[in-house]
Order: sequence, then C-alpha cells, then structure tokens
Amino acid sequence: MKENLGADEKQIANPACALCEGENRICMTDIITGKRYAGTPPLGCPYKEMQETIEKSLELYKEPENAKMALISARQEFQNYEWLPGRKLKTNITRIEEIMDFAKKMGYKKIGIAFCAGLPWEGKVCHQIFEAKGFEVVSVCCKCSSTPKDSIGIKEYEKIRGPGTLELMCSPITQALVLNKCKVDLAVLMGLCVGHDTLFIKYLEVPVVVFAVKDRVFGHNPIQALYLSQGPYYARLLKPEPWEAEAFPEKTHGRYDDILKWLEGAKKEEAKEK
Ligand code: SF4
Repeated sequence: MKENLGADEKQIANPACALCEGENRICMTDIITGKRYAGTPPLGCPYKEMQETIEKSLELYKEPENAKMALISARQEFQNYEWLPGRKLKTNITRIEEIMDFAKKMGYKKIGIAFCAGLPWEGKVCHQIFEAKGFEVVSVCCKCSSTPKDSIGIKEYEKIRGPGTLELMCSPITQALVLNKCKVDLAVLMGLCVGHDTLFIKYLEVPVVVFAVKDRVFGHNPIQALYLSQGPYYARLLKPEPWEAEAFPEKTHGRYDDILKWLEGAKKEEAKEK
C-alpha cells in the first residue's frame, strides 16, 4: 500500500475502505442488530487514524445550509425503508421521487436539468415530471453553445461521424453558466459524459444532485460493468493492462481502420501537392 501524507499531518497509509469487509468495519453497525462491529480494519483506516480530519468535517455540519441538507437527506434515506413482518427490509422510493422529495423539503422551487443531447427523450420526460410536481423547471442541453468541436482541437479523424462532418462539442461549462444565470435552487445532472460532468460541476455555483450518468454500453447503468467483471464477459476489467491486445492479438477495429486508410490517403494527397 502506498504511503501518503495524511491531512492529520502524519504519515499514514492510503485509506482503503472499499477493501474493508465484514466485522472489520468498525466505523459501522450491523444493519439488523444495530451493534457496532469490533474487528481489525486495514492500515490507513480513516476512523482510527484520521480523527483530526473527522472532527474538522463534523464541525462543517454545523454550518446552517450543511446542517439542513444533512438532516433532510438522512430523513429522506430513512423514509425509503420500511420494515415488513419478519424483519424484512423493503425499499420504497425511486431516485427521481427522492430528488423531488429532497428538493421540496429543502424549500427548493426552481430546478435546473443539465442533460445530454444523446438523451433528449429522457431530458423531456424529466422536465415534464418536475413540472407536473409543481417545480419551476429550466432544462439545458449539452450542445447549447452550438460550437464546432474543431474549436477545442478535435482533428478530422477524431470526429465520431468521420472526417469532413460538422460535429458540435458538448458545452458543460455553458450548461453550468446558464443554470447559474437562471438562479436555479438545485441542478440535476442528467446523463452527461465522463469529463463533461466534471467540467459542469467545476463551474456550477448551486447545489447539484446526480440523477443519471452516461454509460453508452449499459443503458446508463454503469454498475453493470462491475457485476459482469465477475464473469467471462468483462473479466478483463480486473486484469492489468494491456488486456485487449493480449486477449485478441489479431483484432482490428473496423472504424479505426477506415480512419487510418483515410489518413493514409490524406497524407499521399498532401505529398502530391508538395
Ligand atoms: S473507516 Fe476504517 S473501519 Fe470503516 S470501512 Fe474504512 S477502513 Fe474499514
């Protein structure tokens, strides 16, 4: 495990909560009995080794907006569960309903949806649902700046539809600035691409909640990749790179081959002109 300089200004191992299991999770309680676990967590356990940072974070919950948000989101979490006879735990509320419940409890009236142009139907239904429940709704599409991708340095051969086409860039910074300008109370992220979501969040000045994230393979349900990593189809995810070339040394990528041919032709043309 790599060492780093922790926020508590002492040398600690990197926290690895995700690899801490069962009774070793001493920061947690058993979901049925409510009793605290008492095992041995891995090195770098924040609960054991970063008390100073934990105390600092707990102070932040005392700030009025944080206090309200923390309380309401914990209540929202509570309301999602119901005990059935025989101590069977049932969940009740879908994510879109939870977003609206949370917004109402927070007193938010104006919701801003930042959606991906690849999900226009989903953006429309989201807009209609929030409106039907009484919110003032702003929705802004990722292509709203209508700016060609060439302006950010995308080359002809990097265009999805191929060289010579007009391809417009996603403008997450524009989406953030539009929602800031419209003074929405809460922004809802709807299926933005990886990296575009990062830029959107970077420039947003209002609270944000994620409704959906983009996964072009798994119908915007990226967790499927984790389940399939346990079987033959996506086991490659758990293998060190390079994995694809090793597994399929003869594999060619049709579209990229076309692009390579196009590039070859373009270079020949260029040479002739010289
Ligand atoms: S805080 Fe400590 S005990 Fe809790 S999950 Fe992380 S490593 Fe495990």
